[in-house]
Formats: sequence, C-alpha cells, structure tokens
Amino acid sequence: MTHQPKISFVSLGCPKALVDSERIITTLRAEGYELVKTHEGADAVIVNTCGFLDSAKAESLAAIGEALNKNGKVIVTGCMGAEPEQIRAVHADVLAITGPQAYESVVSAVHAVAPPAHDPYLDLVPAQGVKLTPRHYAYLKISEGCNNRCTFCIIPKLRGDLVSRPAAEVLREAEKLVKAGVKELLVISQDTSAYGVDLKYAASKWQDREVRAKFLDLSRELGSLGAWVRLHYVYPYPHVDEVIGLMADGLVLPYLDIPFQHASPTVLKAMRRPAAQDKTLDRIRRWREICPDLGIRSTFIVGFPGETEEDFELMLDFLKEARLERVGCFKYEAVKGAPANDLGLPPVPEEVKQTRWNRFMEAQQAISARRLQSRVGKRLKVIVDEPGPTVSRGRSQWDAPEIDGSVYVASRRPLRAGDIVTVKIERADAYDLHGIAV
Ligand code: SF4
Repeated sequence: MTHQPKISFVSLGCPKALVDSERIITTLRAEGYELVKTHEGADAVIVNTCGFLDSAKAESLAAIGEALNKNGKVIVTGCMGAEPEQIRAVHADVLAITGPQAYESVVSAVHAVAPPAHDPYLDLVPAQGVKLTPRHYAYLKISEGCNNRCTFCIIPKLRGDLVSRPAAEVLREAEKLVKAGVKELLVISQDTSAYGVDLKYAASKWQDREVRAKFLDLSRELGSLGAWVRLHYVYPYPHVDEVIGLMADGLVLPYLDIPFQHASPTVLKAMRRPAAQDKTLDRIRRWREICPDLGIRSTFIVGFPGETEEDFELMLDFLKEARLERVGCFKYEAVKGAPANDLGLPPVPEEVKQTRWNRFMEAQQAISARRLQSRVGKRLKVIVDEPGPTVSRGRSQWDAPEIDGSVYVASRRPLRAGDIVTVKIERADAYDLHGIAV
C-alpha cells in the first residue's frame, strides 16, 4: 500500500478561521492525506493562525514555535499570514506562509513538502467535507470580508471587502450538511446582516425556485431545511426586524449574536461602528415585542481610547436596560495597523481598563443570572453535545457552542450527541442550567 502522507493541523482563532481549516483539511483528505493528532512523525504541520489581537498573535507564534521544535516542517496560514515579516522575524525556518482563505497556496505548499500519494483505495471524503466541529453542528460561512471600517479592527485590511456566496451555493452546502446528520447550522460571516449587498441581492436557482442573496430570504430557506439555524454577527440594522419574524415563527432559533461593542455615542462614533446611529434600545424592545423568546448575546470593549467614566457608565446603563442573555467583554488592545491608533485619542491606563472590566462583568453577571433563573421550571428544547451515563451536557436554543453556557441533562434513557430533547429545568447556577429529560 502506498504511504499516505501525514499532516498535523493546528487551528487557532475564531469560528471563521475554523471554517477555513475545514476547507483545507477537506481538500487534503480528498487527495489522500492522513490527519494525525501529534506533530511528531507527521510529514508536515499546518498552523492556521489568528492575528486579530496581540494576544492571539503571541499564541500563534507560540504554536508555530512548538511545531518547529517537534516537527520542523511547518506551513503557516490564516490571518497572521497576511503579515509574513512578523512571523519570519521570530521563526525564520517556516517553510511557507500564506494569508487567510489562500486554500490553494496552502495545498501547494503541502504538495511541495509531502507530495500526495496516488492510491485508488484512498479514504473517501464524506460528501459534506471534513468537519472539525462535532458532527451534529456545523459552521456555515455565507460571506468573506467586510465593508465596514471599525477603527479597532484589521479584518477588512486582512480579508478585504465583503464577498457573499450566492444563496444557492450556501443552501446546497447547508442541505448536504443536514443530510449528513448535522442538526444545527451556525451561520457566520463578518457581518451577517450585510449578506448579499455586494451581489446586489442577485437571485440564484435553488431547487425549483429563485432565491435572492438577502439576509431574510436566505434565513427563511435555511430555516426550512429542518435543522436549528443560529445567526451570528448580526448588526442592528432596520431590516433585521424582518428576520425576527422568522424567529417568532420558529423557523430560525430565537437567538441573535450582535457585537454591540459599546453604548456611548461618542465611543461608537470613534469606533465607526455600523448602525451606531440607530436607537438600539428601541430596536431591542421592538424585537422582543415581535419575538418575546428572543435571546441576545453580545460582546463589548472597555477602555477604547478616549473612553471617559461617563462613557463607561452609559455602557453600564445600557446593560441594565437591554438585559442581554450572554455578554462577553474585552479590554481594548491597540492592534498594530488598526486605524484607532491614529485617532489621537488618549489611551485608557491599564489599571482603569481592568477596574472597568471588573465592574462591567459584575453588572452583567447579575443580569445573566436573573435571565437564567427565569428559565427554572420551564420546559426547554436542548441539543445534546456530550452524552454521559447519567448526565449529559447540552445547550438550549439560547446557547451557541463554545461561547455560551450549557444545560446539564439527567436522563434515564441513553442520549446521543445531536439528540434534541425536552428538558424540565430544575435549577440554574451562574452560567448553566440543570434539568431532567422528560
Ligand atoms: S464589522 Fe467592524 S469589527 Fe466586524 S469585521 Fe467588519 S470592520 Fe471588523
């Protein structure tokens, strides 16, 4: 039997980078490469890096260093690959560096170090590709790049302007995933609500009909495939109201991941956030009227340059009013190359950032805990992620994998990953729910 070259893969960064990793791996698997879990003994190591924050860059450089030590043949790709000089300065010996979404170049680099073996009995790649996520949920990327220019962000520089995939292409991929057993589709992009703007919303043929490349149309069609559909990275534009109607109708999960980042108009303006001018609290109120079950998750940044105590307090007031389900908070980091560094605004001292972060987290924890407590006594649908002999771990409709909380489900009958069960919630702690399958 022909030797199948072995590749070890490190995937760092956000869910969007994970989708890139899956594409590279799918291609390699189709060519007969074997994926191995350790660097030792592999024919090459691919490191898919994240270059968004300085801390992520440090993590990427450390992962490259480890791969060089343990293996020596290292190919680097992903966001940090857009700045090859930063990588070469620390690790001159990497074999190749390619930027984000450069699937072809990564594969060519692999061919150069470990040519593919031609074996007619190669493992066939499953029709839905190789998923790095468990089989019952999958990320579905609907576009690349971003037309916004938030001043703290280098993604548009790294990934360019918005390029949407035609609706029919997204739907075909989603249908394959569902047919292969995926029970939950996580829709991702840099700005999901801007989907199709670049295509002028052009329609494409899906089954017997034309589907426009529009957020509402795509969400409706995805919702008809029979899997849970979860929307990430949505901005509070007015047209999002229509999609909330689909949530009220049960077609799409009543969950919105909206990175608000701040609430002070002055800071939002300096951040150049999309939809910052809209009255966000009014919009949230309206959404909850349309879909009372709606759960919102968001992220915020404390310590953006120029943020005053008054700005920060506006953010705390917003939290209290908005009563969001889940919230993440980051301390601002001056990312090299981000326009925010050139705004001439005074940086916030580290200790002030830390204090504000603590105050923010404390305020939100109380709100999240109250929201969770309100679920006690209810019957919720829960998707099982990790079955256990007596207690399994799953998620409610308001919990995305990896970023939100869990529901611990006691059950007399054995549960399998991907099962969607009804659970009577008995208690809540600070982050998670506990209940019994009924
Ligand atoms: S919306 Fe803003 S933060 Fe998000 S990717 Fe685009 S520029 Fe970056």
